[in-house]
Amino acid sequence: MLTSICGINWGDEGKGRMVDLLSQDYDIVCRYQGGNNAGHTVINDKGRFILNLLPSGILRENVVNILGCGMVIDLKHLCGEIENLRKAGIKISPYNLKISDKAVITMPYNVLQDVMEEERLEKATGKPYGSTRRGIAPIYADKYMKKVFRMGELLNTKLMYGRVADIVEWKNLTVKAYGHDPVKPQDMIDYLEEYGGKLKDYVCDTGLYLNKANAEGKRIMFEAQLGALRDIDYGIVPYTSSSSTIAAYAPIGAGVPNLKLDKSIGIMKAYSSCVGAGPFTCEYFGDKAVTLREAGGEYGAATGRPRRVGPFDAVASRYGIMCQGADEIALTKLDVLDGYEEIEICTAYELDGKVIHDFPFTDVLDYCKPVFEKVKGWHCDISACRTAEDLPKEAYDYIKLLEKLCNCKIKYVSVGAEREAFITMY
Ligand code: GDP
Ligand code: MG
Repeated sequence: MLTSICGINWGDEGKGRMVDLLSQDYDIVCRYQGGNNAGHTVINDKGRFILNLLPSGILRENVVNILGCGMVIDLKHLCGEIENLRKAGIKISPYNLKISDKAVITMPYNVLQDVMEEERLEKATGKPYGSTRRGIAPIYADKYMKKVFRMGELLNTKLMYGRVADIVEWKNLTVKAYGHDPVKPQDMIDYLEEYGGKLKDYVCDTGLYLNKANAEGKRIMFEAQLGALRDIDYGIVPYTSSSSTIAAYAPIGAGVPNLKLDKSIGIMKAYSSCVGAGPFTCEYFGDKAVTLREAGGEYGAATGRPRRVGPFDAVASRYGIMCQGADEIALTKLDVLDGYEEIEICTAYELDGKVIHDFPFTDVLDYCKPVFEKVKGWHCDISACRTAEDLPKEAYDYIKLLEKLCNCKIKYVSVGAEREAFITMY
C-alpha cells in the first residue's frame, strides 16, 4: 500500500499535521524531496514540534522514517533536529530513521550562495525570490551539475575528502564573483567529518529497504514538502522550490521508481496562504489580511515570516488537485474561518475583461484579478466538532461547495492543530 500526502496549494497546508494523524495506519513514512526549507508543525500528546528534515512519522514509535534520495540534506541542521527531538524524549536510532545513500548533502557554501543571490536580486531588481536562504536552490543546481557529495560517501570518507579540493575550487569561481572570500577546502572536510560522522550510521540503500518492505505488505506513506504551486516544473516559476513537490515524483524521490502509488491524498487549506514572493491572485491586503493572518496564525514555521493570505482559491486549487492526481482531499484549518459572518471564495480570475477558470501560465497571473463570491459563514466555534453531524449547516455547505468547485471528494476535515481535532466525512 503506497500513499502520498501532498500539498494542493502554496505549501503550509498542514501536511505535517495530517501525516502525524494518518501515519497511525502506516509502517513507513518517507520524505522524497526538498530539504530543511520545509516547516511541518505537529501537535500531539508528546508536545509541539516543527520538523524540517525529519518525516512527520518520527513521533510514532512503530513507524520507520526515511529520508529519500530526492532530498537535499543539511548535515548540521539534521543533527540539531535529531538532538532537539531526543531532548523531548523521542527515540531516534538507525531502526526508525534511515537516510538514503543517494541523498545529496547541502554544503555550507550552498547556504552562502543562496544568501548572496537573494541579496544581489534585491539590489538588482528589488524582487528577490523569497528563498528561505537555506541553500536549497544552489544545491539542487549542483546536483544537476553533478558536483555534489552524497550521503553514501560518508561511508568511505577517504574518497570523498579527495574530491573536496576540486569541487571547492569550482564553487569558488562563483563565490569570488559575488565578492566573497573563497571557501577553504579544509573547512569543508572538517564540516563533513564533524556532522557526517554523527549521521553515517543512519545511511543505507533505502530503495532496497522500501522494495523489501513493500513486498512484505508494509504500508508506506510518502510525505511531500511544500505544495503543487511550488513545484519546480508545475508551480509559479521562479517563485517555487527547486524540487518536484508533486505526488507522481514520490516513488522516484523515495527510491522506488518501480512502484506505483495506490492513493494520493491532497492536503488543501480552507483558505489560502503563501509565504514569500510571487503571484498570489486571491491575496487579501490591509485589515482583511491582518484579520485572516491572525486567525490562522500564519507565520512561517521554518522562518517566522508573516505569510500572505487570502480566501480559498478554486482556480489554483483545481490546478493543484490535477497536478497531484489527488484521489481524496484533507481540508485543513476550517476552524480559522469561525469568526466570519460571510466568507469569500475566489471562484474565478478575470483576465483582460474575461472570466477564466483554468490556472494560467505564471507570467499571465500578474494580470489576473480575483473574482470573489460570498457564502454565509457559520460564525461559531467548530473546534470541538468530531463528526459531520456536529458541524453547523453553513460549515457543512462550505465543505460541499469546495468539493463541487474542485470536483474532488473531501474525506477529512481538520478543525484544530491537535492530532484529534479532525472529522472523517465518509
Ligand atoms: P505544512 O508545511 O503543510 O506541514 O504546514 P505548516 O505546519 O507549515 O502550517 C500549518 C499550521 O497550521 C501549523 O501551525 C499547524 O499547527 C496549524 N494547523 C494544522 N491544521 C490545523 C487546523 O485544522 N486548525 C488550525 N487552527 N490550525 C491547524
Ligand atoms: Mg510548512
